Amino acid sequence: MHRLDHTPHSVVLGGAGFVGSHLCDLLLSEGHQVTCVDSLVTGRAANVEHLLGRSDFEFVATDIRNDIPVDGPVDFVYNMASPASPKHYFELPILTLETGSIGTQKALDFAHAHGARFLMASTSEVYGEPEIHPQVETYWGNVNPIGVRSVYDEAKRYSEALVMAYRRELDADTVIVRIFNTYGPRMRPDDGRALPAFISQALSGDPITIHGDGSQTRSFCYVEDLVRGLYLAATSGECGPINLGNPSEVSIKGFAAEVVELCGSTSQMTFHPRPQDDPTVRRPDITQARKKLGWEPRVERADGLARTIAYFREELSHPDPTRRVMPAAAADRGPVRAAERRAETRTSRRNRRDAARR
Ligand code: NAD
Repeated sequence: MHRLDHTPHSVVLGGAGFVGSHLCDLLLSEGHQVTCVDSLVTGRAANVEHLLGRSDFEFVATDIRNDIPVDGPVDFVYNMASPASPKHYFELPILTLETGSIGTQKALDFAHAHGARFLMASTSEVYGEPEIHPQVETYWGNVNPIGVRSVYDEAKRYSEALVMAYRRELDADTVIVRIFNTYGPRMRPDDGRALPAFISQALSGDPITIHGDGSQTRSFCYVEDLVRGLYLAATSGECGPINLGNPSEVSIKGFAAEVVELCGSTSQMTFHPRPQDDPTVRRPDITQARKKLGWEPRVERADGLARTIAYFREELSHPDPTRRVMPAAAADRGPVRAAERRAETRTSRRNRRDAARR
């Protein structure tokens, strides 16, 4: 356990996202000074709005592919920054790869320069379409390196390799956690993941969209449980990788039925083609987390779902559910934004060229 004789300073990269914002809340409740760094590419200002103005909280709008402009001393760096929903990383494939590679390296350099402990938020997606079930940390995975999901899966696998290289070569103080499907308040209703889609559809009485026959399984962890696991991992002396997730496994069809019932909805399920490389099964083996961190999930699915549905009811009634602009901080993404603009121009040039050929 890391013990400090001063107020710890934690920097949460991706802190305005779904998981990152709950982590900021937990760290503040543990007495940390918190700096949230986020480009808001997929996160939302609304997630940390309640923290703005506190003397122990700061928001820095930047992209971690640039240098991270935060002054020390820094004790902990949590790297949560990355598009995480398939919808987002399909839309932003190069940004996703660059965030996992250039961004993770910038984040490691930043942590190392400050002598801070570094937590890497990796993912169960490193296991790909698993041949071992439930997934244990010693399993190396089965990932399609050129499929549409590879921009996320391989970025995270590269991040893990980079973290281990910094640890071995530079003696950096690091821990890798592999997060399994997590849910809870502050998921974006429009982020395309199964749960926000099911709840939004059930609450509005629309058909529930199931990809495939719904027999594929997932294991859903409530966000409050997850962030406690992240905190325990960061303050332990472990290096991981350690799985964090809820081992209670459910079929997607069964999960959709639970959501419909808890929403008191009459929505019917409709079945659509399964996306490429969508994993058939997912369940964490959490023996390591239990043994090394004394962690296991506490929140039952019915309880977590009830809290999430209550949040979505409120959120969907908001006049601007996509609100994501930080009023005071008009995200300055500097050179990266300029590079993206150049890329956009290249894309429109290519589209014009393709149109001229047709
Ligand atoms: P999210 O999209 O809500 O949060 C990610 C945050 O990172 C967003 O606020 C986004 O704006 C920010 N970000 C992305 N790229 C950035 C960049 N280059 N520079 C600065 N900020 C950037 O996603 P989430 O569900 O909260 O996921 C958080 C982390 O946990 C991700 O790294 C994800 O891979 C990991 N994870 C999440 C889950 C899950 O079920 N939610 C599962 C496995 C792993």
